[in-house]
Amino acid sequence: MGDGERSGRALGRAVARGLRGRCPNCGQGRLLAGYIRPEPQCAACGEDFRPYGTADFAPYLVTFAIGLTFIPLALVISLTTDFAGWIVWALMAGAALTAAFLLPRAKGAAIGLLWALDVRS
Ligand SMILES: [Zn+2]
Repeated sequence: MGDGERSGRALGRAVARGLRGRCPNCGQGRLLAGYIRPEPQCAACGEDFRPYGTADFAPYLVTFAIGLTFIPLALVISLTTDFAGWIVWALMAGAALTAAFLLPRAKGAAIGLLWALDVRS
């Protein structure tokens, strides 16, 4: 890995492409084969994704985002209403659906980030 290769890996662009589930290198090929399972390599440009294992980074990001939005929301609702049972269920369902929506995007963004920084595991 030389400096020339590194300089081609724009961080913001790689993360944005990962968020959209696209190859951080070319933006064309699919990054994820399943829900959050990465493709071994890009079908369009052949970029190898296998060195960029994100471990628990994506679930951590999602948990952080969900906590930052739903905990204050639950707190405000509990202080301003009688906090009926259905509100609790609605909040939990909303948090679960939001997490399910965010997880593959966070996974893609995490791979894009590691790819841009060339952090191999
Ligand atoms: Zn590609």
